[in-house]
Amino acid sequence: MTDYAFPPPDQASIGIAGSTQRFPVHRIYCVGRNFAEHAREMGAEPPKGQPVFFMKPADAVIQNPHIPYPGVTNDLHHEVELVVALGPAVPDHWTAANAIQAVFGHAVGLDLTRRDLQAAAKEKRLPWDTSKGFDASAPISDIIPAAQAVIDADTQLSLHVNGTLRQKACLGDMIFSVTDILLALSELYILRPGDLVFMGTPSGVAALQKGDHFHAELQGIAELHGTII
Ligand code: MN
Repeated sequence: MTDYAFPPPDQASIGIAGSTQRFPVHRIYCVGRNFAEHAREMGAEPPKGQPVFFMKPADAVIQNPHIPYPGVTNDLHHEVELVVALGPAVPDHWTAANAIQAVFGHAVGLDLTRRDLQAAAKEKRLPWDTSKGFDASAPISDIIPAAQAVIDADTQLSLHVNGTLRQKACLGDMIFSVTDILLALSELYILRPGDLVFMGTPSGVAALQKGDHFHAELQGIAELHGTII
């Protein structure tokens, strides 16, 4: 047994629907600008060629329905997203034919964003990290195993805040498909079981306030409820 200088932190993990087992989170990859209307609302052209990627730390996942409003921002934005979870079938050599076999399951999550810090970083051509990779920045539902529910181009992703629809799109509106994203990521990183990929958000991103209640849904597959405190 390794003799650590102090006890290592707990492994970040999330629930698996219908199972007592937990999904150990290795890394959280995120896709920026994967819906054309959202890219335009952020003042960017929809990407051609390579997708935009960034990361959050693994322990940014949170399943407690009480989500703390983070410090150092006055403009916390919601971004509802399909989350793809990679399992043990991650291949050594990724191809369009084997990529989907690596998918353990799906979840719905929020890519919470300090939009004011992101805007300032973009203006100065600085990295986005402090706007994206903060504590509790990745509220996420339990993972629904791929064997239990399939997603397709018609599957709807939606977010209500205080009962009002804020974001809604079909997965078929994604510029880069799940396969496209996994292949592109596999060229940049060694993907491993336990990796989560937030696939990008539709248009309609907006501010959350303390006390707001949100309800995110991957239609017929996964739901996520929570309150900003
Ligand atoms: Mn996002």
